[in-house]
Amino acid sequence: MKVAYGKHISVAGRIAEGRICFITEKQFRKSARPAEGYEAEAARFETARKKVILQQNTLYEEALAKAGQSVAEIFASHIAILHDETLIKSVHRQIARKKVNAINATLAAFRNLEKEMALSEDRMLSERAADVKDVANLLLDFLQEEEGDRNGAHEKEKPLRDKGPVILAAEDLTPSEVLRLSGENVQGIILKNGSGTSHAAILLRSMNLPTMIRCEAVSRSWDGKTAILDTAQDCVYIEPDAQIRKEMRGRKISARRKEALLSGLKDLPSETKSGRKIRILANIETPREAATALQNGAEGIGLLRTEFLFLNRDTYPDEEEQYRAYKAVLQAMRGKPVVIRTMDIGADKTPSYMDMEPERNPVLGLRAIRFCLTRPGLFKTQLRAILRAAAHGNAILLFPMITSLSEVKTCKKILRACERELKKEKKKYKMPALGIMVETPAAALCAEELAKEVSYLSIGTNDLLQYTCAVDRDNSRLDAFTNEAHPALRRLMQMTVDAGHRNHCTVSICGEIGADISFTEDFLKMGVDEISVHPAAVLPLRSAVRALD
Ligand code: PEP
Ligand code: MG
Repeated sequence: MKVAYGKHISVAGRIAEGRICFITEKQFRKSARPAEGYEAEAARFETARKKVILQQNTLYEEALAKAGQSVAEIFASHIAILHDETLIKSVHRQIARKKVNAINATLAAFRNLEKEMALSEDRMLSERAADVKDVANLLLDFLQEEEGDRNGAHEKEKPLRDKGPVILAAEDLTPSEVLRLSGENVQGIILKNGSGTSHAAILLRSMNLPTMIRCEAVSRSWDGKTAILDTAQDCVYIEPDAQIRKEMRGRKISARRKEALLSGLKDLPSETKSGRKIRILANIETPREAATALQNGAEGIGLLRTEFLFLNRDTYPDEEEQYRAYKAVLQAMRGKPVVIRTMDIGADKTPSYMDMEPERNPVLGLRAIRFCLTRPGLFKTQLRAILRAAAHGNAILLFPMITSLSEVKTCKKILRACERELKKEKKKYKMPALGIMVETPAAALCAEELAKEVSYLSIGTNDLLQYTCAVDRDNSRLDAFTNEAHPALRRLMQMTVDAGHRNHCTVSICGEIGADISFTEDFLKMGVDEISVHPAAVLPLRSAVRALD
């Protein structure tokens, strides 16, 4: 028996069992077929491009209907790559100037771009290199199939479903590979590389497939071996012995029992045995997740990250599109509170159409409210949309990355200008309650003054920890230096809660540590009113609260 370790990115606490099926990365080799001339080869490429656009369009529609916006966006970004003028021209140029066939032109043009993107220092851009590769592979698959069919040499893969329960192992997988491979018999996935924020990761989470990444030990020699993937311990057992198999079986049964018990807590209050109440809300990123939040017993939306509306597209969403999205969440939540955060653009979220200047330290740069205050037109469009949507439910408007009183005052001034405009235009709107995120040490230290301007303080511990302890939250090499229980963070949180309460504000925690039940008792003692966590963590957190004295 061998044990290997990694980091789970999908479905915590799950045990998956099966035979390892090692997926070798498809290597597209150069085609030896002589080119038939520009017209014929360019036409081949165009046919392949149109075919793949059609296929991705269908996947986009399906994803939108079944899995929501964040998954659908994966296919939207593939479609955008397929329409990319520079890339298309580059393929045509290869065919015309280098006199190569469609396959070799596609290989050269896409691989060049992929390499460039993979080497980028911008993490978002380097992750998206996988999408370029994915699209290239789809095109090459189609072109090769055509060629193979003409030569009668096309070989079909043996379907995975004939292999019984399997755990896929690979160096990495693209979103299209995930889709192609994940049949009902696929129990889990182990990747040597991978990233928790890639498109493939988003897709895997939407499919509820237990997945572990950064497992160095993944090897082709595992192919065909039996394995147990345990996402609670972040490990995989290869050829597990009888004792491990027994232990895992026991854990599987108790996990199922736990799930059943948790679902019984859906409509019960979040209160300790002595009656101390705390509200548990959900963090969501797309309107569709509001339904998931409700299914998981959330008492509201504690954080709607609105960035989803601005990413993976080529143009700004207009007021109408934004209004519809926010209204959809407010209506879905039927009077429960919905905290809508204005866009946290900047740092790792820099859509290319926004023409943002590259920055040396983007996390300390023109991010979130700073970005909005330098683009008042863009900011006003979002504020107008939120004011109009607020008429349809119980909205709280939240400003991110606040560091000073003057920023809050300026935001309120712009908001009042939007209100005046809407009034003049006779548009229906409602002024929502106002809040700020306390996610910089400056905001926590000035919480007393800031709390006088608003009625809601949301402690964003992800950034508050990053800025307080100088630990880049996206740098996994700093894991050993990251301490979520750091006394400096705790003191800033306590100051925020106390200042908030002295000034009649509701105080919430919306960072990831809210879901860590080993801290729940501390947060209750701190006096926090609300904790907002990802939807799947709502019930485990409620269970932890109810178990406390
Ligand atoms: C936070 O910083 O804790 C937070 C919730 O915001 P985000 O993770 O979106 O930066
Ligand atoms: Mg933050």
